[in-house]
Amino acid sequence: MARPSRARLDLCALRHNAGVARQLAPHSRLMAVVKANAYGHGAVTIAGALQSETDALAVACIEEALELRYAGISAPILLLEGCFEAHELLTAAQLDLWVTIENEHQLRWLEEASLPTPVTCWLKVDTGMNRMGVKPGSAPSYFQRLQATHNAGNEIVTYTHFASADDLQSKQTPQQLAIFDALPFTSLRSAANSAGLLAWPAAHYDWVRPGYMLYGDSPMTQDHPSVHSLQPVMTLTSAVISLRDVAVGEAVGYGGTWVAQRASRIATVAIGYGDGYPREAQNGTPVIVNGQRAALAGRVSMDMITVDITGLEGVELGAEVVLWGAGLPLAEIALCANTIGYELVTRMPARTPRIVVRD
Ligand SMILES: *Cc1c(COP(=O)(O)O)cnc(C)c1O
Repeated sequence: MARPSRARLDLCALRHNAGVARQLAPHSRLMAVVKANAYGHGAVTIAGALQSETDALAVACIEEALELRYAGISAPILLLEGCFEAHELLTAAQLDLWVTIENEHQLRWLEEASLPTPVTCWLKVDTGMNRMGVKPGSAPSYFQRLQATHNAGNEIVTYTHFASADDLQSKQTPQQLAIFDALPFTSLRSAANSAGLLAWPAAHYDWVRPGYMLYGDSPMTQDHPSVHSLQPVMTLTSAVISLRDVAVGEAVGYGGTWVAQRASRIATVAIGYGDGYPREAQNGTPVIVNGQRAALAGRVSMDMITVDITGLEGVELGAEVVLWGAGLPLAEIALCANTIGYELVTRMPARTPRIVVRD
């Protein structure tokens, strides 16, 4: 038997989630964010499955866009950080890549370039996150210069990004929306990431830009009805490879951080931080063994974890184990590992085989 750790990717769930995004924002065009190797899922696989369901794709940089173009993906692709060097504009023009303009360098490179066709530009405005974008006060002059240069396409989109849309109680999102709405010029607009799409209808505008929700997990910090219909795309699984009984007082794993409070049965599972399961996961983190919930017992090793299966029925060598995904939300595991689901999937290593399920 091959080593059993696997990340199963359900492309039906992916398309379903894109449909949920469409339904929630029926009047907006849909841009699917597939940066960072589609949040660790595999950019070519995910973009290939999504391009017929969406109006455009988005990645961080031109290298990520080229990977998709070389694989035959033909949908428009926005570069969310724009160009890092002037020469990238020529490639962008040739390959229908859309560029973000968020600073004076990027705008000047565009104005001074000699391009075979205009490039579609998205003007990024900083409405309060203070990470990317031009200040609202200088946005009108950027917009005018984009309208004036023949190197920018006719359809200029003005966009911004939310800092706290995952938190319904936060005042920051209404503040950002007010600043965005007050910009004194007319153009197509975009603001919503997944949380904006799911929970802030006023943020939908002309384009929505979900990433995380397409992979089927909730980005919200609180429960929200609109996340209930999402279906997980990645299910991380492995199997039991060793079983033992431990007596009261015996410790399990590196550092002996878990000590049996009762006579216990321990299952060792072939998955560890070398396979993308977080070392930060605490004792008690839920794990599904043979369809039943069990609890992580002891530190996560590179290639193995140990699970307390005391009292579970019928667990034998080879029993299937689910670490997250179908039946065990990624967000729940992320909480137990003091991180967010975004990070867990995005750092999934190449070592873990991706098994693509198409229907
Ligand atoms: C990553 C990103 C998104 C998608 O965010 P999610 O929270 O994954 O939906 C949207 N817009 C920009 C500018 C981004 O960088």
